[in-house]
Amino acid sequence: MRYEAWFNGRACTCGAIGCAEAEASGWSLPLIIKDWPGAADSALSRYSNVGFKELFEEAARGDKVSVAIRDRCLNVWAADAVGLVHAYDPEMILIGGGVMKSGDVIIPYIESYVHKYAWTPWGKVQVRAAELGNNAVLMGAVPLLSQNIGPINKDCRK
Ligand SMILES: [Zn+2]
Repeated sequence: MRYEAWFNGRACTCGAIGCAEAEASGWSLPLIIKDWPGAADSALSRYSNVGFKELFEEAARGDKVSVAIRDRCLNVWAADAVGLVHAYDPEMILIGGGVMKSGDVIIPYIESYVHKYAWTPWGKVQVRAAELGNNAVLMGAVPLLSQNIGPINKDCRK
């Protein structure tokens, strides 16, 4: 009998199954649309390449398939945010990247979901769009690069 470590979902580039990235990201979106029932007859079929810009635009115009895929992506990101809150206990979640062009839809949805489902008895996690856009992650890494972290396994020698 083959043991399956995961419940279900799309195959991810990391080798796992059902990662948020495999379920709702720039590289997986075309694959999701290709497999979505009715997508070939939807407004999305007019595009040779569909990104989140086109998906959110067509969803805003009321295309049913676009709305369904957009809402699924929002739920994947929101559920992922709740998992990250439980793992790291942040006071704030900053979301960056090109998808933040639709931040007016994404941010309130994720914040509302996190407030409803994350267990944070100390208060409410804030969800915001990163003001530096695609550069936000790089800027966040600069303090790490300037730290002298010493030998990686120093605690193991005690
Ligand atoms: Zn993965």
